[in-house]
Amino acid sequence: MVTWLRRQLSLGSDKNMMMGMSLMLGEPPEVDPKNRDRAETYWMYGSSAEELGKAWDKPADMAALKTCGNCEYFDNRARTLKSLDIESGLGACAKFKFVCSQEKSCQGWDCKDIDMMEKE
Ligand code: SF4
Repeated sequence: MVTWLRRQLSLGSDKNMMMGMSLMLGEPPEVDPKNRDRAETYWMYGSSAEELGKAWDKPADMAALKTCGNCEYFDNRARTLKSLDIESGLGACAKFKFVCSQEKSCQGWDCKDIDMMEKE
């Protein structure tokens, strides 16, 4: 496992791979409030389902299903909450590195294991 990780890290230019490894190793992501501002400006973090739906070209009710709470990058493990001294309902966004709310969303949303069935 360690050899595999070293090989992956030495090849690693892929940030997603690094994030996945960080989670795999159990380390809470580092967060910075400045990153929240960037996520709001460039990734529509905190925008309404209507606004995100427009950006995704999807109906608002479908956009509303995509929240931080079910995003691949949302880390709300007990260890993370404790380490960041944050309450339940919040978590660390492992993609953009800030504390986000499980009820909000952004354009960087990606699904976990759930395959979202979308009607065209
Ligand atoms: S990437 Fe996911 S967890 Fe991070 S802010 Fe966007 S929706 Fe939330």
